[in-house]
Amino acid sequence: MADRIKIAVIPGDGIGPEIMEQALLVLNEAGLKFGFEAETEMLLAGGASIDAYGVPLTDETIEKCKASGAVLLGAVGGPKWDNVDPSLRPEKALLGLRSGLGLYANLRPAKLFDELAHASPVKDINDTDILFVRELTGGIYFGKSGEYMSEDILADGTPYGKVAFDTESYSEGEIRRILKIAFDAAGGRHRKITLVDKANVLTTSRLWRRIFLEMAEEHPAIETECLYVDNCSMQLISRPSDFDVIVTSNMFGDILSDEAGMITGSVGMLPSASLGAPGTPGMFEPIHGSAPDIAGTGKANPCAAILSVAMMLRYAFNYNDAACAIERAVAKAISEGYRTCDIYSGRPEEKIVNSSEITLAILKFMG
Ligand code: NAD
Repeated sequence: MADRIKIAVIPGDGIGPEIMEQALLVLNEAGLKFGFEAETEMLLAGGASIDAYGVPLTDETIEKCKASGAVLLGAVGGPKWDNVDPSLRPEKALLGLRSGLGLYANLRPAKLFDELAHASPVKDINDTDILFVRELTGGIYFGKSGEYMSEDILADGTPYGKVAFDTESYSEGEIRRILKIAFDAAGGRHRKITLVDKANVLTTSRLWRRIFLEMAEEHPAIETECLYVDNCSMQLISRPSDFDVIVTSNMFGDILSDEAGMITGSVGMLPSASLGAPGTPGMFEPIHGSAPDIAGTGKANPCAAILSVAMMLRYAFNYNDAACAIERAVAKAISEGYRTCDIYSGRPEEKIVNSSEITLAILKFMG
């Protein structure tokens, strides 16, 4: 009898439901081939939840996610909800899911498909295959913040007026657990890890660096380097293929992983995984948003969502063979010239296709 895996599915808004439909076809096919049955429960979050329940995320949805083996998410948000109360914006659903499920590690691969290299704004990027490990529930996005009025005056006589502040703090425990994930990941890849920080300025970064160097001594087989974030943003452009695993704080990871994503082509190709404590459900989603500009046109590239299914099978359910089969099939569809609009560049070997046509090719190449 086939194993049963339980998945909370949140299609979301805009192109979310369209790419999710394709991703679920691939999940189902992987189940047939690799002997598991996916039991999916469809849930609402983001704008769809605001429309149905008045809030972007309900407690019931969080509870259902917690009771699943993994959460598969499309994308949330869109212009329809741009003017709602800021505390009720669709994107609040993402923060609610991350904190509700304790998802402290964000894994974002930025892997180049060779056939798309010519479309990258950066040259000499062959073999680029970076895994970003970003801390997701600490740092400046979660620190104390506020506003107050000040009577102080700047040296040139300008009054301070209103002052706004955000604070960054990290505990040793928070740093150690994310570094552990990064060292483990590097061990299964090319055994190189880069810590990105701003240790020449920030106290939090110096704590990150001290713990990183301690852990580096415990992992002699892994090559380690430390880069300041400003330097790293340049090195990513000049030598992207030299990186293997990059580990960093919440805000630096947010910015650098988008930069690296752009180097490797379209956001439509890039999946992500957000993980918490062992044994708790992770969340798997494309890095792109709900693309309202192309919603309903059939143009959405489902590859990021399909590759998110692969990450889910690998990290949440340990079906590594199924994950590899999906990744190989996506690579084969690209090498055979199948292109949605976002990755089409008009070369003779390319054929422009819609969301379902590229999915059909991927299903075919799964064997
Ligand atoms: P976006 O990622 O939705 O779109 C940026 C550009 O990339 C658009 O031109 C879009 O057409 C294109 N694009 C994105 N995904 C694509 C795909 N799969 N195939 C082809 N083209 C694709 O970013 P945005 O326009 O800044 O945001 C739109 C909405 O999505 C906003 O409401 C934003 O808040 C939300 N958003 C949600 C998430 C999420 O759910 N994780 C992430 C980012 C943005």
